[in-house]
Amino acid sequence: MQRNLPLLFILSLFATSLGAAQPAVGPAPRDLHTWCQSVTRVIPQIKPKHCLKAELKPAAVKSVNGHQIMLREFKPAHAPVARVLVVGGIHGDELTAVSIVFRWIELLQQPYSDGLQYHWRVVPVMNPDGLLAKPPTRVNARGVDLNRNFPTPNWFAEAPRYWLVSAGRDPRRFPGKAPASEPESRWLHDEITRFKPDVIVSVHAPINVLDFDGPPTGIKAPLRFGRLHLNRVGVYPGSLGNFGGLKEGIPVVTLELPHALNMPTEKELAHVWRDMQEWLRVNLVERKTASARTNAAPAAEHPE
Ligand SMILES: [Zn+2]
Repeated sequence: MQRNLPLLFILSLFATSLGAAQPAVGPAPRDLHTWCQSVTRVIPQIKPKHCLKAELKPAAVKSVNGHQIMLREFKPAHAPVARVLVVGGIHGDELTAVSIVFRWIELLQQPYSDGLQYHWRVVPVMNPDGLLAKPPTRVNARGVDLNRNFPTPNWFAEAPRYWLVSAGRDPRRFPGKAPASEPESRWLHDEITRFKPDVIVSVHAPINVLDFDGPPTGIKAPLRFGRLHLNRVGVYPGSLGNFGGLKEGIPVVTLELPHALNMPTEKELAHVWRDMQEWLRVNLVERKTASARTNAAPAAEHPE
């Protein structure tokens, strides 16, 4: 018995580490079913079976109203070329910004999908309270525009002033009383710190442009994804683009789909996906290969 103790100890450590690798809170299938029912009731373009097939897992956060925020992760078997964070529906009344992210999850589930060399973390519904409100709202359950609530520099001086003066106290654009005051924006902020994405893709509607925020050097702004053309819409205090792109130096691509309720055509969706994958490939894969070549030890001198 004594002799077996070390073996038992090793086995128990192994079991503990296996346990730790599991998600902290795995949803019972019924919970996911309920979650999918609520979301697909609001967005009929997403069929409940597609929502279930997305195999979402709960993130370690719930919204103000207690709705679970869900995510899907795709991780290559080998070391990923880069990490990509996708955020859909941070504004609850932009339904297409959720639908398109579910479509991307479907595409990533295909065995030879483009983009499988990256580690993806995909959050299709960032603002469930806004989405599930009747009618859906841009803001969260406490009336905060989550996309004005990120801790950008001088938030206390700039965000409230911008809301009062430039946004004319528009309740749809209220930045909150303090940066990262909301569980949803606080979690996304922390997730960016934990996951350290190389690129953040955020989806909105209905301005019909492509926007880009990022450090002045490095990854180039995409010129177009499908019919969405690059048109920088400006930098707002507390926005995700301002926080991620300018403060943290992580390129943030923002897709502004043309309609909040009507999805683009299948052809257009395919163009958007293809152009996005091409932009990621050129900027993440090719740049990485080029910089690895530059940093490699110089080759042995060739005798002339
Ligand atoms: Zn929006």
